[in-house]
Amino acid sequence: MKKIIAVDGPAGAGKSTVSKICAAKLGYTYIDTGAMYRAVALKVLQSGKPVDDSLIVDVTRDIRIELDESARVFLDGREVTTQIRTPEVSRAASLVAKVGYVRQKLTELQRQMASRGNVIMDGRDIGTQVLPNADLKIFLTATVAERARRRFDELKAKGHAADLAQIETEITLRDKQDSEREIAPLAQAEDAILLDTTRLTIDEVVAEILRLAGKV
Ligand code: C5P
Repeated sequence: MKKIIAVDGPAGAGKSTVSKICAAKLGYTYIDTGAMYRAVALKVLQSGKPVDDSLIVDVTRDIRIELDESARVFLDGREVTTQIRTPEVSRAASLVAKVGYVRQKLTELQRQMASRGNVIMDGRDIGTQVLPNADLKIFLTATVAERARRRFDELKAKGHAADLAQIETEITLRDKQDSEREIAPLAQAEDAILLDTTRLTIDEVVAEILRLAGKV
């Protein structure tokens, strides 16, 4: 059985949905590293100050981010699980994620969290930077149109107003920023297995990851 599983890929590819299910089936801990960048972004936005690199570094210096076993997210001791899911925080997360100090600090924290083993961690740079020795690396992707459609359906199901074209534009921009940044860009690790989920159901993706993990 693979003890450390890294799942990377662009926004909306289904990383957190399938990673969470796989973790539950394997009895592993699920670690959502995107939530950690989102927590930094929320703290930056909450400061109310004009956003620049020095503010981002200041805010990150003494930040406390915790994830519990139900994937709830705590920022400086306060739960922010739903607050970090807004489009505004998504945009800001991609900006704070470019800052070297933030990446260094969160990478350290992520490695500490993974050190106990039996983890499935998802993000953008897990297979390339955070856990280069992971036992199994998956790069999950899907067409941008399909990823936007999934986000749209998700928002609709929660009763939120949503605009498909706008979601597609935002996802495209975030992918571009994440792939083109200088430090730890979104990239498929050389030894990662590419899974295109465009035409797959969640159950099919989960089954494939469990098979690769040696569970079945
Ligand atoms: O995965 P999620 O969409 O929640 O991630 C939010 C943002 O955090 C991403 O767009 C990316 O900029 C950043 N991120 C990152 N490295 C990770 C995880 C997320 O740069 N490992």
